[in-house]
Amino acid sequence: MSERIGTTCVQGGWRPGDGEPRQVPIYQNTTWKYDTSEHMGRLFDLEESGYFYTRLANPTNDAVAAKIAELEGGTAAMLTSSGQAANFFAVFNIAGAGDHVVASSAIYGGTYNLLAHTMRRMGLECTFVDPHCTDEELAAAFRPNTKCVFGETIANPALSVLDIERFAAAAHAHGVPLIVDNTFPTPVLCRPIEWGADIVTHSTTKYMDGHGASVGGVIVDSGRFDWTAHADKFPGLTEPDESYHGVVYTERFGLQGAYITKATAQLMRDLGSIQSPQNAFLINLGLESLHLRMARHAANGRAVAEHLAAHPKVAWVRHPSLAGDAEFELAAKYLPDGSCGVVSFGVAGGRAAAETFMKNLRLAQIATHVADARTCVLHPANATHRQMNDAELEAAGISADLIRLSCGIEDAADLIADIGQALAAVE
Ligand code: PLP
Repeated sequence: MSERIGTTCVQGGWRPGDGEPRQVPIYQNTTWKYDTSEHMGRLFDLEESGYFYTRLANPTNDAVAAKIAELEGGTAAMLTSSGQAANFFAVFNIAGAGDHVVASSAIYGGTYNLLAHTMRRMGLECTFVDPHCTDEELAAAFRPNTKCVFGETIANPALSVLDIERFAAAAHAHGVPLIVDNTFPTPVLCRPIEWGADIVTHSTTKYMDGHGASVGGVIVDSGRFDWTAHADKFPGLTEPDESYHGVVYTERFGLQGAYITKATAQLMRDLGSIQSPQNAFLINLGLESLHLRMARHAANGRAVAEHLAAHPKVAWVRHPSLAGDAEFELAAKYLPDGSCGVVSFGVAGGRAAAETFMKNLRLAQIATHVADARTCVLHPANATHRQMNDAELEAAGISADLIRLSCGIEDAADLIADIGQALAAVE
């Protein structure tokens, strides 16, 4: 019997046997003991599965990763210490010096910096495309050395929706996988693999944890991309890995396991960035209510967006599920049950009006965070983008009046009342 998503949120991953703990145990432990060094040698050579050092694998992390793989419809997953580490590993596992990546320009600023600057210093080039570019413009971005395409299901903070089928088709036509950061909708509201994505990443710091308790990330592999059909592009997966006694990941672990095994055995071994088992446990607590919380976040986001759209002191509003929004049609296709709790809007009167509004909020808390059970709010011109003047902000697509409101799971009427009294204070 195939489970529905809510059941997997609650019961997936850790399925205890007779007499085993009901809740996933926290293996707060770095290392495992063996009777013979031959046994340990077989583990090191990946000839046998088993645990020996938490940087490479830990049973708590594995159980939580397995749940997220089930939720996304993937075959394997790996937890990382942050969403940044997840996106870095997802790309670096298949692309390095001399390679090229095509990415949507509507992505989280931290991921933009990673691809445009830090990975460039490592010898990897990235071409950014407008997510609404034509098919011709998208095709023109590819080069012979392109190794993957990257986008966000719902971009933070632009709130544009990726046309996953179109981007997957373009990636596959050029023999490379599509990586989708699915942080904002979570698998409860969109499962990118069902639309053709090959690899899915998350900042679990956001809705998956949902309580602002732990920073983390995850990479999920669909197991569908045929690395061997494009072996010349992906020698790291299809040719012997000398650092592992010549193992060929696709031969030993098949298409379903090659990508995540390589990321674990090679990248985690050499670069670290493992998630702590304690944090994995906290993420699992968040996952157990993810299906309930996402429905409420999405409903609150939409209710608040509709209220703002009708308010005379609000200049503009962006939310993918708002009728008339530029992303509404894509959201209806990919996010029919709701999009997310994040709403962007501008207070009439510009920067000064936005500052007055922020000062007067009582329930919504000012924080550089999104996707939390508690409503939080940010005025980028006074926080993340503080160093820019109004002209520079405009060029970056962030107006001085922009407010990013992340609707939590409180009662919508209270959020609307709080917004109402803060807007009333604006001249
Ligand atoms: N991806 C998206 C869409 C994000 O919003 C963020 C952080 O805000 C990240 C990745 C980075 O995640 P983390 O802060 O967990 O490193």
